[in-house]
Order: sequence, then C-alpha cells, then structure tokens
Amino acid sequence: MSIFDFDLHTHTQYSDGRNNVAEMLNAAEANGVAGFVLADHVFTNQQAEKLLEEYGSLERDTAPVPYLFGCETAVGTLDGKACVSQEMLEKFELVLMDCNNILFSQLKDFSGNPETLCDRLCDTLIAAAGNNPAVTIMAHPFNFGRNPLNLSLKYFTDERVGKVAEAFRKNGKVFEIMNQMYYWHDGTAFAEFHREYLRIVKVFDRAGVTFSVGSDAHSCCGIGNLPWCRRVVDELKLSGRFFLPEVFRSQNKAVAESTAANK
Ligand SMILES: [Zn+2]
Repeated sequence: MSIFDFDLHTHTQYSDGRNNVAEMLNAAEANGVAGFVLADHVFTNQQAEKLLEEYGSLERDTAPVPYLFGCETAVGTLDGKACVSQEMLEKFELVLMDCNNILFSQLKDFSGNPETLCDRLCDTLIAAAGNNPAVTIMAHPFNFGRNPLNLSLKYFTDERVGKVAEAFRKNGKVFEIMNQMYYWHDGTAFAEFHREYLRIVKVFDRAGVTFSVGSDAHSCCGIGNLPWCRRVVDELKLSGRFFLPEVFRSQNKAVAESTAANK
C-alpha cells in the first residue's frame, strides 16, 4: 500500500460532482482505493452547515471503503481569508482550500500586467497559508492558467515561489499535487506545463513542505485516478514527506512508516 492508494480530494452531488456517495463508494471499491476524502465545495457558512447535515445522514460505519467527511473551501479575499469561518471549517475531518473565481474576480485590474498579478497571487497564497488554521491542504496551488487570469507558470520564478513555499512550511500547510492540474493550464502545451510545474514543486520540496495527492474527481470514474501525481513524485524523487490522515495512516504500517516524519 502507498499514498497512491488513497484519494484525498473527491466531489459528489453534494456540490458539483456528478455522482452520489453510494456510487463513489462502488467505484472506490472497484478501483481498489483504500480510502478517500469527500471534499465537496463550501463557499458560505450556510453551505458548510448543509454539507455537514448531509454527511450526518450517511451510514459510514458499514461502507466497504473508509472515507472522511471533508470539504474544499476557497480563498475569499486578497488578504487570504477563507470564505467560510474557521469555526465552521473545524467541524470537518479534513479541510482543503483552493483559489478560484471568488479570488480571481478581485484581480481583474491586474490582467494586463502578469508580473504584478503574479506578485499579488503569491502575496495572497502567503497570507492564506498564515490566516487559516483550520485548513490542512492547499488544493492545487498555482491553478492560475485559465480564464480569467491566464497566468502561465513561467512567471512564478524560483524566488517568488520560494517565498510561498516558506509560508507553507512555516504554517504546516500541505501542497496538493492534483492529478488534473493540466486542466488549469489549458493555454500551455502539456510538456511545457509539466516542466514548469516540476520546477515549482521542486522549490516546495527543498523548502521542506509536505505534499498530498488527489484526483479532484468530479465523477465516480475518476476516483483514485493518480497516474500523473505518481509521475511527478517519481520524476522529482520526492523525499517521502506526504500527508495522510491519521485514520488512513494507521491502516497500513508501511504507509505509517513512510509518513511518520510528518507527525
Ligand atoms: Zn476540488
């Protein structure tokens, strides 16, 4: 068993996923997934409350594959605050946080100036790492390549990235390597995207940041789909600082040992 047997980022019909939890469980069992995290989107306290209610109605104890009641919130402001309160986020078993249009729409003024845009985004990521104690995983960082930002990874120099990496390390934030990361860079040829992404991950690795892997599957067929994550980990020979929730870690001794450094 390895970190690739666990999928820490999936979505269901509780937000914008296509399938219900029963269908996700079926697929997880079929695909040999050892454990996964429901990380449905919550952008308001009300949505978070509703999701917790939905989770409460599930009979998890009898599930064929273990899973966690997580959520994925988003950075709500340029100064890095989540759009759901920390108090509410603390009610989930694992919290992911991404950057999306809620933030991107506040950066319209910089769209003609990629250097400034890049600096603002790095500042926001640094603030986000420091301001949100309830958040464990920063979901697919540097997902800025699509509309409306269209910001290529090449602007994120090692120096800029190094400052973000230091903030992640200092605040114990996990850097998610997400299997569909290329989706966020549709204006760049895959080979170029891949090369630039590896360069960035390398900076985080050198800074001592912990990583996680996830599919960000929005339908059951994607659950446990992590081949590109594995490729990134293999090509960079990442050192074994991987995050795995305690309940999954204790499932397998080998996994426990390889992630013990994170405790
Ligand atoms: Zn997601």
